[in-house]
Amino acid sequence: MYDFIIVGGGIVGLSTAMQLIAAYPEARIALLEKEARLARHQTGRNSGVIHAGLHYLPGSLKARFCRTGNMATRRFCDDHNIRYDICGKLLVATNAVETERLHGLHERAMINGLGCEWLDAGQLSEREPNIRGKCGLFSPDSGIVDYAEMAQVMARTFCQAGGEIFYNAQVRSLNENLKGVLVSTTLAEFETRYLVGCAGLMADRLVKMLDIDPGFTICPFRGEYYRLSPQNNRLINHLIYPVPDPALPFLGVHLTRTMDGSIIVGPSAVLAFKREGYRRRDFSLSDMLELAGMPGVRRALRRHMRTGIHEMKNALCVHSYLKAVRRYCPSISLQDLQPCPSGVRAQAIARSGQVIDDFLFVTTRRTVHVCNAPSPAATSAIPVGGHTVGKVRAMLQAHAETMRRLQWVG
Ligand SMILES: Cc1cc2nc3c(=O)[nH]c(=O)nc-3n(C[C@H](O)[C@H](O)[C@H](O)COP(=O)(O)OP(=O)(O)OC[C@H]3O[C@@H](n4cnc5c(N)ncnc54)[C@H](O)[C@@H]3O)c2cc1C
Repeated sequence: MYDFIIVGGGIVGLSTAMQLIAAYPEARIALLEKEARLARHQTGRNSGVIHAGLHYLPGSLKARFCRTGNMATRRFCDDHNIRYDICGKLLVATNAVETERLHGLHERAMINGLGCEWLDAGQLSEREPNIRGKCGLFSPDSGIVDYAEMAQVMARTFCQAGGEIFYNAQVRSLNENLKGVLVSTTLAEFETRYLVGCAGLMADRLVKMLDIDPGFTICPFRGEYYRLSPQNNRLINHLIYPVPDPALPFLGVHLTRTMDGSIIVGPSAVLAFKREGYRRRDFSLSDMLELAGMPGVRRALRRHMRTGIHEMKNALCVHSYLKAVRRYCPSISLQDLQPCPSGVRAQAIARSGQVIDDFLFVTTRRTVHVCNAPSPAATSAIPVGGHTVGKVRAMLQAHAETMRRLQWVG
């Protein structure tokens, strides 16, 4: 019998596992991962940006976790000799509408307590000679890291403290009772007193295994990238982002420096026809029927139809992609865009059709699930893990209290 089982070997599950074993060093803890290695999905297929948190709604968990996560990520990397680069991020406005939006973001950044600098067109081209725009907002605290590497170090820390990791252990069913949870996997059966779900693209399916309606569905959005040819590796000094539409802040093709020295362009955001479908031809009939059967998903897709078509066009037509990036970086040409692996985002959509923007947690008597952990969840993984451990602690305290009361009654 385990004391705790964590499902999911991405950065959120590993951060939770690492902090759970630090909080309960005597406990027997295991992490179950369905793949043969860690960080195979979102954690190993993202832009690698350490966000500062300019965009997020003041007071939201995203704003709080991103701010604390930025510092925690840097501290973790310092402590474990992981390379990172706080190269700064520049948001570039190319017209009057975007300038207006950028002013709004500037105000938001101030409310969120983040340092940033307003740049006029002259200052902008001084900092970034290859970027054109009317004005810009510079965030000095944004940077880059390899999140898969961070995840590996978290796993090592967890195992050195006595934690166990089981690979090729896909959770197939969960049976919660008064004493704990029976976990049936493709590898073996496990019993645990408490379970933490950090299953990313499969988060809703894990909750459904407990026979409860999670009230949301995970919608997979593929993000496609291009890598710039190597002669462009010095094209930019910072991370370059267009000004996002406040309604869909995660959209917008950006230029990102990476830890291997190259620059990637992207990502787009198109509905993936399979939960872990990284290629355009990947299709799963059962995944699609499941999505089509969710009125909330249909409503959300209808509501954002225009944006969806635009993103699809970008994904299917490289010229369209090029046009988007040339708005602020005119020197990039078609020959500069080379293929690059894509990623798939897990985005929770509520039954009402609302795209759930903030982190979302679901708890039962003996389980806690991290259900919506979209970007900047890699940046925020350490505070998200800490928050999840807090929920487990609250659960243990509630059970101890019940036991005390039962003894008193007895
Ligand atoms: C294209 C893209 C770009 C992004 N860019 C950034 C960025 O620049 N900065 C940032 O902060 N964030 C970014 N993000 C978001 C970030 O990568 C994710 O939010 C984060 O990695 C989520 O981590 P996770 O552990 O929740 O999920 P994952 O990394 O997806 O891990 C979930 C794990 O659970 C396992 N699993 C699922 N079901 C089961 C089961 N039944 N049994 C056992 N195991 C199971 C999976 O195999 C997987 O390993 C980006 C995401 C994408 C897709």
